[in-house]
Amino acid sequence: MTASETTRPCDGTVVVWEQWITHFSPTTCPECAALHGQWFIKGQGPQPPRHVNCRCQRKEVYWECTNRPPGQAPAGSGRAGTQPRPW
Ligand SMILES: [Zn+2]
Repeated sequence: MTASETTRPCDGTVVVWEQWITHFSPTTCPECAALHGQWFIKGQGPQPPRHVNCRCQRKEVYWECTNRPPGQAPAGSGRAGTQPRPW
């Protein structure tokens, strides 16, 4: 095992979280602005682009090994700044 290995040892379900990164500009829509910093399970929730010229992104920020059913959010997650374990 080396630190550069990308293996994710897990005997449950790997859940990948993505954080919405809003591209702020004078034309940023309120919906995108409100999404900034929010966390979503990969493949779920709103996906960019949400509108014409949307430059927002979703970035993988966290993964966890869980025995919960996939798609069920852990307590306290879903918002920026609550990550217990970074990449
Ligand atoms: Zn946008």
